[in-house]
Amino acid sequence: MILLDGKKLAEARKKQLAERVQKFSTKAGRAPKLVVVITTEIVASQVYVRNKMKACESVGILSEKIEVPKSTRKEVLTEILDKLNHAPDVDGVLVQLPLAAPFVEAQVNSTLSWTKDADGLTYTALGKLFSGDPSVAPIVAPCTPQGIIHLLQSHQIEIAGRRALVIGRSNIVGKPMALLLLKENATVTIAHSKTKDLHALIKNFHIVVVAMGQRNFFKASDFASQTVVVDVGIHGSGAGGSITGDVDFSQGAEHLAAHTPVPGGVGPMTIMTLLENTMKLAETKLGIFS
Ligand code: NDP
Repeated sequence: MILLDGKKLAEARKKQLAERVQKFSTKAGRAPKLVVVITTEIVASQVYVRNKMKACESVGILSEKIEVPKSTRKEVLTEILDKLNHAPDVDGVLVQLPLAAPFVEAQVNSTLSWTKDADGLTYTALGKLFSGDPSVAPIVAPCTPQGIIHLLQSHQIEIAGRRALVIGRSNIVGKPMALLLLKENATVTIAHSKTKDLHALIKNFHIVVVAMGQRNFFKASDFASQTVVVDVGIHGSGAGGSITGDVDFSQGAEHLAAHTPVPGGVGPMTIMTLLENTMKLAETKLGIFS
């Protein structure tokens, strides 16, 4: 059984990225820059933003946080994004989800320029991904699913021609995950809360990506022998304050071909991909590639 260690892979990719950032900065006369916009006071979201900014710093990417209080008029967020679209020193923008009311995702995804969209979630970036046409490909793909593809590929997990099930159909994880697996030539099925007989269904797939947001919904023993299981779920304060996922791998995981740990699987790869996406946006904008 292979442990899909995202923490280790992220560390290795970090070293390569730091060198790329340095080369870019020398040629461009400035470092790449990510702006993180946050509208919520939710503690977990504030922690995620802090971690993303720390990660930027660790590879030499500049980062800036813009807080938009929920007491602000809805239009102000649109104005801020529009300004960032035109700011020459800003390469990537990430709007931390969930948004506080009165702000809505449609406002972000239709205003932010796809050329600065570090999470690949604007409607233009997603439409480009959906088209599958290389001549209109987006610069970057959504961080969590792209990080998972890197995680699978780096462990030589075969994707092409295999049956893949994605459980969850959110715009941020499930749907783009299905598109990226399809791009890698998997035969893809999407399940959701209205799917019947999920426990029977999961036994028919080589790769199962679980992104339901339901703590310990499955046990390792629920999956067929030699399944590759990717657990996207993150749930804080499990037993002893620990972080747990949608799958309980604590017992009976030996028959699986591979699985991600939680924590240390998908999470570190999501952050790593955000950094790589920012780098790619900067390189593409200035036409500087190393
Ligand atoms: P959402 O709540 O937006 O989506 C959950 C999806 O799971 C929905 O499509 C829902 O179906 C489906 N679902 C819920 N319950 C069931 C069920 N009983 N059976 C089948 N399908 C079900 O969550 P996200 O996609 O944003 O995130 C999913 C999980 O991943 C969360 O735990 C989140 O914290 C985590 N996450 C982790 C990241 C990381 O970097 N590791 C990044 C992003 C998210 P329906 O559409 O029918 O309601």
